[in-house]
Amino acid sequence: MAHTYLIKYAEIALKGKNRYLFEEALVRQIKHSVKRVGVEHEVRRTQGRIYVEVPGEHDEDEVVDALKHVFGIVGICPVEKLTDDDFEGICRASVRHVDENYPDKHVTFKVEARRARKDYPRNSMEINADVGEAILEAFPEMKVDVHKPEVTVYIEVREDVSIYSRVIPGPGGIPVGTGGKAMLLLSGGIDSPVAGYMIAKRGVKIDAVYFHAPPYTSERARQKVIDLARIVSAYTGAIYLHVINFTDIQTYIYDKCPHDELTIIMRRYMMRIAQQIARDTECMALITGESIGQVASQTVQSLTCTDEVCEMPVFRPLIGFDKSDIVEISQKIETFETSILPYEDCCTIFVAKHPVTKPRLDVIQRHEHNLDEDMDALVKKALDEDEVIIVR
Ligand code: ATP
Ligand code: MG
Repeated sequence: MAHTYLIKYAEIALKGKNRYLFEEALVRQIKHSVKRVGVEHEVRRTQGRIYVEVPGEHDEDEVVDALKHVFGIVGICPVEKLTDDDFEGICRASVRHVDENYPDKHVTFKVEARRARKDYPRNSMEINADVGEAILEAFPEMKVDVHKPEVTVYIEVREDVSIYSRVIPGPGGIPVGTGGKAMLLLSGGIDSPVAGYMIAKRGVKIDAVYFHAPPYTSERARQKVIDLARIVSAYTGAIYLHVINFTDIQTYIYDKCPHDELTIIMRRYMMRIAQQIARDTECMALITGESIGQVASQTVQSLTCTDEVCEMPVFRPLIGFDKSDIVEISQKIETFETSILPYEDCCTIFVAKHPVTKPRLDVIQRHEHNLDEDMDALVKKALDEDEVIIVR
């Protein structure tokens, strides 16, 4: 069992002077994520390397899985640490490492050493050659292939010595918390959790708002959204989920406006309210799961009408995606199974039989005036009764 995991990160290394901010955020997210496993651990940063030390007994897969949820990580390497840098010891440990990790010895390999300490008596070429020879001697069925080896045994000589050969892919991206905060409109569907994941992957912290319409939408539908937020929070850190009671607003629109325009007008109010909460919580943008042409409310004309009420940027990372691509990501991030549970979301109850697909902004605006009398008060009431759930 490895007790040390070397963390490889790429994109953030490019950020020049901001590098330390990115590394700090990465360390913070690693701690957040490994904490969920419930093992004692320490995250160490030295010489442009980040190590996660887990001294006690633990399940390696659980730790690796936690690290796979941390944006900014491109590779996770379970490492064997030697405190003694005696060369014979390095050879023995390398042979043992190969033996334990590759039961079938019919593999090609190479040794790739890095010597960060120039006072070490052997240079990296010599380490490569001599450790390679020790491995060949122990396992003659192995073969050296310096161009396309199946196994690369990495040896890093620093103040201590690390040996590893497995580089488990991380999620990539940029650590959450380096790119401001945005408000995700989170429904119980497939798309919006994926949209939140994608923006968080670019370093943006996420809060969320869900429009709930009891009794038209059930308690189970609400719970489903909380469950989705919880799955996404494994990547993003704690999510402040705002649950807004939308029933009175929805029924008021239903009573006062043409039914084929219901969805579009409803969506404009969702955006207005989400934006108000965003302003109050230092979010700088909105995020939705919209994708062009997916449904009537997502034609270019409809999106234009929805967008018109937004004064802050709206991020729609799925805008050009096919549904099948979105499903694939939702399966990968494990929101899919929850998303497809059958509980209705608030739009389905009030959907018109023939919603407009090419709404005209001036017409929509005119019909919205039918709502002048009570809407401000209803919006204010909904905002006042905002229920905040901290999901982690
Ligand atoms: P999703 O799969 O994310 O529910 P969808 O394909 O069902 O999306 P719509 O219902 O038109 O599409 O919603 C478009 C976007 O509006 C959603 O991706 C989400 O961001 C937001 N949204 C829709 N309904 C709600 C809701 N009840 N609460 C919060 N946001 C919502
Ligand atoms: Mg939906």
